[in-house]
Amino acid sequence: MKTDTPGKGKPPRLLILDDEAMTGETIARIAHFAGFEARHLTSSATFFDEVTLWQPDILAIDLIMPEMDGVEVMAELARRGSQARLIITSGVGSRILDAAGRSAREHGLDIVGVIAKPFSAVGLRELLYKAVEMEGGPVAALPGERTPTRQASVEDLEQALTLGQIRLAYQPKVRCRTGTLVGFEALARWQHPQLGAIPPDVFIPLAEAHGLIDRLTLQVAEQALDWLVEISSEDTAKRVGQHVLQDILLSMNVSARSLGNSDLFDAILRLCRERGIAPQRIVLELTETSAMQDATTSLDTLTRLRLQGFQLSIDDFGTGYSSMVQLVRLPFSEIKVDKRFVMTATDSEESRAVIRSVVELGRSLGLNTTAEGVEDSETLDYLDELKCGLAQGYLISRPLPPEDVLDWFISREAQREERRLAAIMSLNLLDTPAEPRFDRLTRLACRLFGVSTALISLLDRDRQWFKSRQGLDVAETPRDIAFCHKTLERDELMVVPDARTHPLFKYNPLVRKSPFIRFYAGSPLYLRGGEKVGTLCLIDPEPRAFGEGDAELLDDLARMVENELALSSTDGHDECTGLLNRTSFREQAEAACQLCRRLNLPMAVVSVRLEELPAVNKLFGREIGDRQLRDLAILMMESTEDADLIGRYRATEITALLLGVGLETAREIGGRLHRAIERSNDGQAPDQARLSPSIRVAALPPGEGPFEQRMEAAWQLLG
Ligand code: C2E
Ligand code: CA
Ligand code: CA
Repeated sequence: MKTDTPGKGKPPRLLILDDEAMTGETIARIAHFAGFEARHLTSSATFFDEVTLWQPDILAIDLIMPEMDGVEVMAELARRGSQARLIITSGVGSRILDAAGRSAREHGLDIVGVIAKPFSAVGLRELLYKAVEMEGGPVAALPGERTPTRQASVEDLEQALTLGQIRLAYQPKVRCRTGTLVGFEALARWQHPQLGAIPPDVFIPLAEAHGLIDRLTLQVAEQALDWLVEISSEDTAKRVGQHVLQDILLSMNVSARSLGNSDLFDAILRLCRERGIAPQRIVLELTETSAMQDATTSLDTLTRLRLQGFQLSIDDFGTGYSSMVQLVRLPFSEIKVDKRFVMTATDSEESRAVIRSVVELGRSLGLNTTAEGVEDSETLDYLDELKCGLAQGYLISRPLPPEDVLDWFISREAQREERRLAAIMSLNLLDTPAEPRFDRLTRLACRLFGVSTALISLLDRDRQWFKSRQGLDVAETPRDIAFCHKTLERDELMVVPDARTHPLFKYNPLVRKSPFIRFYAGSPLYLRGGEKVGTLCLIDPEPRAFGEGDAELLDDLARMVENELALSSTDGHDECTGLLNRTSFREQAEAACQLCRRLNLPMAVVSVRLEELPAVNKLFGREIGDRQLRDLAILMMESTEDADLIGRYRATEITALLLGVGLETAREIGGRLHRAIERSNDGQAPDQARLSPSIRVAALPPGEGPFEQRMEAAWQLLG
């Protein structure tokens, strides 16, 4: 790593090469304000001399200039062995900028970044700061602060290991979807008393080259595991008021060179055992390059580690080795997208393409995917869209010294809770009356699982409040005793087969007294922005088992509740009838289809169509047409009591979906509806417009394919 900064106290120097004087001047001015000394040239003729004489720390080069293009300039710089860091500027497309950046790197130039014109002052300033930042510490060293007088030597490193100078910083890993903390990566730090902070990019290779890496890894493991014990302790949980930290994972970096040394891994396993830490909580990260050198040894060692329960991660994935093969051949459990792609995702379509395919690859192999180097929220949103599992990067937090971790966690949780509460408030659902659209789903849950109680619980600041409840008389309970509170804390399905024996719940008043909860299963509910607002949960007064199939089923139902939550009571609904509108009906029907597929249940549809609605509108006026639709909606709801979904499927059609129902029942319901319509017509004054809709039904056996297509193919008209 180079940072040959100018003498102590001197501002870093920026030399700009741009054929447009205006642009050069603007850059210079921005740089000047940012504390840099800047000069700009409009022609490459004098540029190289200036580089030699003035010794700039950073060069900003325009890619396209009249006499010589930027790529040639870079080639020449490389030939001259330039040590300055590069910023490439240009008005060309991002692909060209990417390619130029790559070519500079291939030339061995130290490139900080590319910035497209027209650029923002902020973007440029950030690049400039980045250019003078020394990587490797929570606090970046600015140039002029302390300049190493010499490089660290093996002897220095050996001494550091003996004196215990290698410390750790911990960088959090969170879920992309929800921001929930899942673990930390331990990163080695070396602060040499004379030489200052030495970045791991320097001392790790040094350790590897001189046979010190295993010693270092063991020291790292020991410190990190001690730290993990402390942060997962009951004491810490009490301090922060929740239990999330008790299950967090710890990632450690392992050099591939260590793969041949089984003593090292035995020692790590022993360290875990001594501390009562399950190897399942430890993720060993290996870089792609290295995992492959000695194929057979790696396979043996890695397989053994997996069998012992350790998780294995392939680090820096995508950096260009024969990664695919390795990934399939070796027993990895996680894939980490290299930060090079992630950091450039907002600017580079190519980077996005790489991320996309790595995430897909991970998914198809059933691996967790983590993106590291997430620096902005656009990138995080993009990752979430791709369904990338975990994120790590400066946006979430820089690597933290151990003494700062808890404070970071506590303040972040407080912020997240405020955002969560704001999201709940914006739903406008708290303390509103029951709504059929939610009650339908809890009824369905009771029916499918055969439990006494199903609830949609929203977690407010101090209470949980039930938007829908079957089999429970109270409308809310205090938050501190709510099972749902714990489910949300864990951020995943929580199953309690028998609460009387569960450490978290055996003393809970809801277990010891009425309603005497025994069985509980709760699935968290998220809003589109990832905020967790509550749970869909099942409760029963008898203990019971809950299998994987049940879990998937509850999950499907929870997604349906989320779809409903995403619609406020008005949008997603048809204004005239108050039923689901076409879009939301289709969305929910698709989810219901998936549910039936899982359960191997049939489905049926009953639909009523007012073909003459346009004519009624014209002859009698829009108001009468609307009233007919509303009447029909009511008749439909009455005749299909148990329908799981009802929507205004088309302008002239109202459709009800029934799960677990075959053709026979659908026809019966259709008949009932027909009679109800006739009765309603009989009650009308003779001069009123009469309802004369057609009724059709469709039966869908469990199967594949989009709902709508299958329904359209199965219609039968009722007489
Ligand atoms: P790595 O394993 O890929 O670790 C991630 C690196 O990315 C860390 O650099 C981290 O500080 C940095 N990083 C994380 N998020 C961001 C971000 O948003 N933006 C940017 N620009 N950087 C980010 P660090 O700590 O300098 O470590 C560098 C490398 O040194 C590590 O890369 C790892 O390969 C190696 N290393 C560190 N500690 C150890 C260790 O204990 N053992 C071994 N074998 N290698 C280690
Ligand atoms: Ca790593
Ligand atoms: Ca990495």
